[in-house]
Amino acid sequence: MSLNALLGGLLLTELRQGLGVTWKYFFHRKFTVRYPEEKTPLSPRFRGLHALRRYENGEERCIACKLCEAVCPALAITIESERREDGSRRTTRYEIDLFKCIYCGFCEESCPVDSIVETSVCEYHFENRKDSVVTKPQLLALGDLLEQDIAAAKAADAPYR
Ligand code: SF4
Ligand code: SF4
Repeated sequence: MSLNALLGGLLLTELRQGLGVTWKYFFHRKFTVRYPEEKTPLSPRFRGLHALRRYENGEERCIACKLCEAVCPALAITIESERREDGSRRTTRYEIDLFKCIYCGFCEESCPVDSIVETSVCEYHFENRKDSVVTKPQLLALGDLLEQDIAAAKAADAPYR
């Protein structure tokens, strides 16, 4: 052991340096928050739980074009569709497997009618494995519940697109 290292050990130099850093930051503004009581702001582009949106008249936006299903790199979206009596095409099945989803946002980007979106909801859990597959009624219900937030996030993001 060198003399310097021996002296450093005897004088507790490294310990003093460490305590110096502790004291330096002790009275600084804290960088951490007490989650979940405190939360950090989320970007309007945050990609959380999915939702399907409706138009103001209550009609679902999705026209079953299947672009989101085709673009999804994780093959997480399953769509089945049929033609209505009025000639319009709508989904009969729209499911997203959240265990497969990688929250890339491609589905939202590809949608021509702003139907499928990723919301700011990031706190959710499943009690059963099968619950990871969110169905069309669930996605529409989420869209109905969160429409105000979704519209506000889209409006905030619009100038940057
Ligand atoms: S966010 Fe990405 S991975 Fe998830 S469903 Fe959409 S396209 Fe697929
Ligand atoms: S959610 Fe959008 S992209 Fe997907 S099938 Fe419906 S209209 Fe097409």
